[in-house]
Amino acid sequence: MYYREKFKRYRDYKQRKMYIPKVICPICTKQINKVTTSIIHKETGKKAHFDCIIQELKKFYHLNPKEAVCYLGGGSFGIIEENKGHSTKGFVIKRRIQYEEK
Ligand SMILES: [Zn+2]
Repeated sequence: MYYREKFKRYRDYKQRKMYIPKVICPICTKQINKVTTSIIHKETGKKAHFDCIIQELKKFYHLNPKEAVCYLGGGSFGIIEENKGHSTKGFVIKRRIQYEEK
């Protein structure tokens, strides 16, 4: 009886563990801990790190040092550039990239 209970507990433990699948980033092949801050990678259709996607976009669009990639929300990114030489300070969105399909 004791062993049966022990086995059952072990089995439950195993099943519970299986409910949390490891999410591996297809770009850097490291585990994603915060799934909520990840985004679906276009090429593989898997969840990837936010930063990894940004790095990929930077390479893909050949950004110059003045430009940066930021997340605009709703699955889209923007290539932004510092708005210098104008009376208003801030950033200009030069290009919008709809990355994640809804
Ligand atoms: Zn990554």
